[in-house]
Amino acid sequence: MDMQVSLLDRLFDAGLLIETGVDGLYGRSGQFEDVIAGFERLIDRFGGADGAEAIRFPPGMNRAFFEKSGYMKSFPQLAGTVHSFCGCELDHISLLKCMDEDGDWTEGQKATDIVLTPAACYPLYPTIARRGKVAQTGALYDLQSYCFRHEPSKDPARQQLFRMREYVCVGTQEHVTDFRQSWMDRGLKMMELVGLDVEIDVANDPFFGRAGRMLANNQRDQNLKFELLIPVTSSAKPTACMSFNYHQDAFGAKWELALEDGSVAHTACVGFGLERIALALFAHHGLDVKQWPEHVRTALWG
Ligand code: ATP
Ligand code: ZN
Repeated sequence: MDMQVSLLDRLFDAGLLIETGVDGLYGRSGQFEDVIAGFERLIDRFGGADGAEAIRFPPGMNRAFFEKSGYMKSFPQLAGTVHSFCGCELDHISLLKCMDEDGDWTEGQKATDIVLTPAACYPLYPTIARRGKVAQTGALYDLQSYCFRHEPSKDPARQQLFRMREYVCVGTQEHVTDFRQSWMDRGLKMMELVGLDVEIDVANDPFFGRAGRMLANNQRDQNLKFELLIPVTSSAKPTACMSFNYHQDAFGAKWELALEDGSVAHTACVGFGLERIALALFAHHGLDVKQWPEHVRTALWG
């Protein structure tokens, strides 16, 4: 934990991250953003020729889609919902009175139709399901979104609002697993270009509760999730900076995504944790980007 607090403090002192008073909720400096922009251009250089359709959703999604996704079954501890005041003038008076008395004014808030996006790809599946069948040769999407996860922490690599860049592939089992493998290879090459030591390992999602442990074991046994790990605050416990997920036909079945031949589509996604990659770069090469090795600067900024 000490290494995490110390990196966080150093980032605050250098002005790269800006404190808000809430763990995991930070402002970013222009310099920090410039590193992310440079890394995103590197992603484009590797993935741009694949012809993915780019879509940018805002960081909130349709609550009905969120409910149908089953997120609350698997990760209720991480979800964030948007609530608003929906009352009349009398309710407003009691709201202000409650706030004056330091009461829990949030009790009167009502759920809106918007939920904070938990992963960049969640709004995509219902969107493409509406479009009808997917070409037999598959489809590819390029996404980026701020995501919310309620996991407050002093570890700068575990934020509550952070960005995920994702490529999502829809198609046959062979097509989407080939896609996933090609990004594991690309991920290794990209990190080598920016001078970071990495390893790829099998992983699992943080499923909730006792039943969740079984789901996590199952996910590992079937090699459904891999992570690219980079030391950020600890070399013994490196941080997952990319993940490579094969969903089998789970999202295809859930959202009735079919290929032209009528078979249920398989899906896979690769996600880049953009803040985590920037933090890995700062932790490894130092907080002053002017001092970074020339080959790293060239990879990011040309
Ligand atoms: P972890 O095991 O570290 O909680 P995860 O398995 O929940 O990560 P994914 O759901 O695969 O992560 O998310 C895709 C990517 O988003 C991760 O590889 C990581 O780089 C990034 N990410 C996930 N959670 C956070 C967070 N709280 N703060 C910053 N980046 C995150
Ligand atoms: Zn995803």
